[in-house]
Amino acid sequence: MNQSELQFYIEKYPVFQNIIDAKEVYWTNPNCEPDAPLPVQGLDESVIYEAVKRFKRFEPLMAKAFPDSSPDGIISSSLEEIPHMKASLEQDTGESIKGRLFLKCDNELPVAGSIKARGGFHEIFTWAEKLALQAGILTSKEDDYSKLLHEESRKIFSRYSIAVGSTGNLGLSIGIMSAELGFTVDVHMSQDAKEWKKELLREKGVNVHEYETDYSAAVAQGRKQCEADPRCHFVDDENSVHLFAGYSAAALEVKEQLEEQGITVSKERPLYVYLPCGVGGGPGGVAFGLKHVFGEHVRCYFAEPVQSPCMLLGLLTGKHADISVQDVGLDNITEADGLAVGTPSSFVGKVMDPLLSGIYTIRDDVLYHYLRILKDTEGTYLEPSALAGMAGPYRTNNQDKSNAIHIVWGTGGALVPEEVRTDGYEKGKKS
Ligand SMILES: *Cc1c(COP(=O)(O)O)cnc(C)c1O
Repeated sequence: MNQSELQFYIEKYPVFQNIIDAKEVYWTNPNCEPDAPLPVQGLDESVIYEAVKRFKRFEPLMAKAFPDSSPDGIISSSLEEIPHMKASLEQDTGESIKGRLFLKCDNELPVAGSIKARGGFHEIFTWAEKLALQAGILTSKEDDYSKLLHEESRKIFSRYSIAVGSTGNLGLSIGIMSAELGFTVDVHMSQDAKEWKKELLREKGVNVHEYETDYSAAVAQGRKQCEADPRCHFVDDENSVHLFAGYSAAALEVKEQLEEQGITVSKERPLYVYLPCGVGGGPGGVAFGLKHVFGEHVRCYFAEPVQSPCMLLGLLTGKHADISVQDVGLDNITEADGLAVGTPSSFVGKVMDPLLSGIYTIRDDVLYHYLRILKDTEGTYLEPSALAGMAGPYRTNNQDKSNAIHIVWGTGGALVPEEVRTDGYEKGKKS
């Protein structure tokens, strides 16, 4: 971006100078229509219900393939109130958090240990289901899907390949599930991807390709690999409705869990949800589902690292994928590997435009600080990316939230090895 363009944005948007200075910012989305009805951009709630049904059909397969991690085959996580964390945050800041604070524990999701179990597994299930129905392995959608684990089915799947570009967790989710079903799978990993994630995938027989470039370039490599090959399925993190749909199903889970706790979301008891954002599919899918379920009574916020505010730049300027964090002089280098994305999904950005209440950015040292206090107060470990939502209750303090329910979306952490956890915790002590 040239100097005069930059100057134009700096003058037009008061928040812009702070974004390019990598300062923590809070932005209210002026295009948000609190009661905007679906469909948005042609997407309606049917994608949510289709995903829920597909997950259901795959439960027998999940239970058989991963009996330890998913004995009932259900891909869901708990919703936990975190009062000790809340008290500690209040002590820390000297400021009270109005309402109740919950953690949505997607770090516990089976097999993948991150929110990517939702989107990633759903995408692989969609592709596998289609192939199996075509090949006659499944006779109908009522058939027993655990058949897909049989040798004859794996043999058919082995003639197909799957490719994906990732900063780590999407690669884990796609790689593990694809390998389990017998697909040949290639994961293109960006520079941010942690070594242990690549190791784990290699152990599962996944082809791991490493790049010295960021996420967008890794995605481009995956896309290129599949272009000329009709037997290759490219998992397109920037454009996939199947990924998005898998994430969106989480909203129905939240509704049920709040009801179980006797909580009815309403005008008097609004729901605030804080979602860490990378390319946008995960938080976007969840927010889309939540808007369907709770309408104007839910307010969704995305959280991004100060060096990687790609969705913020895309929505603020309306340029979506035509602007990157590098364009404004940021380096997209962050310890929050799940969020190290320089260019947002324009598909998701356009869907979010009327639905999203706002975005804030957060520094890496603050993520580590939260990592430590969450561990100390609630005994829960999250990876750095997954703590971006924790600042939400404070950062949105321009609103009356006396009766609010806050949900911080804990997006990952279960698979992180012990020594990496200890490192992060020690960093958190210093920040
Ligand atoms: C992928 C990921 C996100 C963000 O999801 P996007 O679809 O990239 O926006 C957040 N947290 C963690 C831990 C992730 O792995």
